[in-house]
Amino acid sequence: MAGSSGREAIPSRRIAFNSSTRAGGNCIFCLIASGKSHSDIVYEDEKYVAFLDIFPFSRGHTLVCPKEHGETIWDMEEKDIAGLFRVASRVSRAVVSAVDADGFRFVQNNGEAANQVVAHVHVHVIPVKMEDKGRFTDRKRFTPAEMEETARAIRAEMGPA
Ligand SMILES: [Zn+2]
Repeated sequence: MAGSSGREAIPSRRIAFNSSTRAGGNCIFCLIASGKSHSDIVYEDEKYVAFLDIFPFSRGHTLVCPKEHGETIWDMEEKDIAGLFRVASRVSRAVVSAVDADGFRFVQNNGEAANQVVAHVHVHVIPVKMEDKGRFTDRKRFTPAEMEETARAIRAEMGPA
């Protein structure tokens, strides 16, 4: 099906999770996307939401998600995958400016084998500083006030949607 942008064009093979998740009550990212669970949101539009990772690798580590539930990137329409990365790219500029980073990583894990912890598609935007080059940084914890301040700084760097 050349030229098709639908997910039906792609042979489906389910990515493995030990526990299946569904949209709604048992998916933390659906709860965040619908405003039912708190998070430090840095960007939001009709289809996507970006918020701080609660166990960040570095200050400003942000997750970008489609609001519509899907476990992995294979559950998404190609145009929505493009939209997801377009938002991730815009978020990366704001994150890097806000925390004065020297670079950033996109990490997008699919399946438990790939260390995907929450079974709702997301892209990690992880800012890195030159002094972290070649070093594997551990997950960090920041206080709620620090998280809020970081989110505010990123939001200030985001342009209009
Ligand atoms: Zn979900």
